[in-house]
Amino acid sequence: YKTEYNIYSTQSPVEPHSVNVYYKLHESAARWPLRIVGECGITGRQLTFSTLQDQSVRFAGLLQRGPGRGVKGVGNGDVVSMFLTNSPEYLTVFYGIVGSGAIPSPTNSSFTPDELARQILDSGSKVTVTETLLEPVVTAAIKNMKNPPFVYVVGKSNDGHAELLPILQDNNTPFDMDPQIEPDEFVGMLYSSGTTGMPKGVLLPHKSLSASLPAYQHPEINFDLPCTDEHQTTVMGLLPFFHAYGSYMGLLSGPSSGCKIVTLPKFDPQTYLSAIKKYKFRHLHIVPPLLSFLCHPAVTSSDLSSLQGVTCSAAPCSLSHANILKDKTRNDFFFQELYGMTETMVVMTTPVGQERLGSCGKLLYGSQARVVHLETQDTLPPGHKGELWIKTLGAMKCYHNNPEATNQTQTSDGWIKTGDVAKYDEQGYFYIVDRIKELIKVKGLQVSPTEIEEQLMKHDAVLDAGVVGVTCERAGEVPKAFVVKKKDVSEEELQSFIAKNMARHKQLKGGVEFVDALPKNPAGKLLRRVLKERGV
Ligand code: ATP
Ligand code: MG
Repeated sequence: YKTEYNIYSTQSPVEPHSVNVYYKLHESAARWPLRIVGECGITGRQLTFSTLQDQSVRFAGLLQRGPGRGVKGVGNGDVVSMFLTNSPEYLTVFYGIVGSGAIPSPTNSSFTPDELARQILDSGSKVTVTETLLEPVVTAAIKNMKNPPFVYVVGKSNDGHAELLPILQDNNTPFDMDPQIEPDEFVGMLYSSGTTGMPKGVLLPHKSLSASLPAYQHPEINFDLPCTDEHQTTVMGLLPFFHAYGSYMGLLSGPSSGCKIVTLPKFDPQTYLSAIKKYKFRHLHIVPPLLSFLCHPAVTSSDLSSLQGVTCSAAPCSLSHANILKDKTRNDFFFQELYGMTETMVVMTTPVGQERLGSCGKLLYGSQARVVHLETQDTLPPGHKGELWIKTLGAMKCYHNNPEATNQTQTSDGWIKTGDVAKYDEQGYFYIVDRIKELIKVKGLQVSPTEIEEQLMKHDAVLDAGVVGVTCERAGEVPKAFVVKKKDVSEEELQSFIAKNMARHKQLKGGVEFVDALPKNPAGKLLRRVLKERGV
């Protein structure tokens, strides 16, 4: 099938923005200076568009002149890392870094000192911005560094670092910024989640974001982003801004569309529900663990009465949970799944009125997708499973400092190999099935761990299951299951349940181990590499 025929593509009906996200923010600030762009969902602290513009420009100037203490001016191509939880100030810091010409590199705020140190060194950050509560982690992380980054603290510093807000709030701090941002410059170095290995720094050019924003804002897509003089959309800013999903929706497309972002620094059931009631969100972006929370019987229909729909992404989401949520909400409630990766931004989701539970939706405007045979790399027709390849104007330029990974992921003619096994149907709906790295090779045959997990979940004693390959002398690898029990069941019973229902090479020859919980990251991604380490 080596024909163009099986390449699924959509033309953009809208011109990609000629301006980038930084200028868009300034446009919004000129149009709606006194509108709130950021509000802390806990303290109620507010940030207007004009203050955001003012303070971020001042921060940009500060970075360019140089923070002092031996650190020279920071500008084009330099990296500034951000070790912060979601807050209105996150916006100020992020857009300030962009305005200076440096590259903001958001960092996972739950990192330990070692993990943070690794990422600061990997990114080559000259400056790190953190907050009072996280400052001890930064102090520990940079303690033994030869060239530690200069540290700014949002809030009080207890370790003698520079406090940022007083400088930005001081009207006497000079600023003379008129940044010229070129489309090929980077709007961010976002790190992948590190599900399959070490997180990788992904360099995203302004032009990629400019190309994908119109797709997010298109009326056919249910994100409810566009704002007018009469209407301002309120966006829930709980998903972390350091991760691609949270940053595309909250940090990048939200402010540049004129939205108000209500930030929550962490998930707390009561705060989350009260925020939904108080701010009457029409649309929420969620991840599978939040979906399962919303399905909990303690969350009532009245808690969710403002909601017209949700978008769920980052990991496979459960069909039965989607249905439970739909039952709790209004009749025309729209459940949407979204697929994307740090390297491609958002590429698939469900257009308005075309809900199809279980699918991650259709290709967004301005992208191409194909599914290729895992061995021959032939392009496959609908219905066949293979590796998903994406071509999109929203793609990364490359990984930071990792030409080997870049070469493995990008083809010379611009396709990104996602590493995900997928298929699509005749109507163009896509389904994500597995990750290639996690397929189990039994006597040379590819076995899908997801397929065995789904079968195990059909057993009424199984609450959750994770399957990985363990080494076997005869077969190379064999499947082993980690199971969270709902009620009592033996290893033999589950092995024979699989033996009855699945082909020989899929049987649980590696055994079954009962566990209290499966290792998952906060976005709900199953960490099979952690199971694999335990499985040997
Ligand atoms: P790493 O690349 O560091 O191993 P990661 O791939 O999990 O980590 P992200 O870029 O955050 O890092 O996640 C993208 C991946 O998340 C996709 O490649 C896919 O495997 C998974 N994913 C995203 N959306 C969905 C979805 N709707 N259904 C299933 N999987 C999804
Ligand atoms: Mg990945």
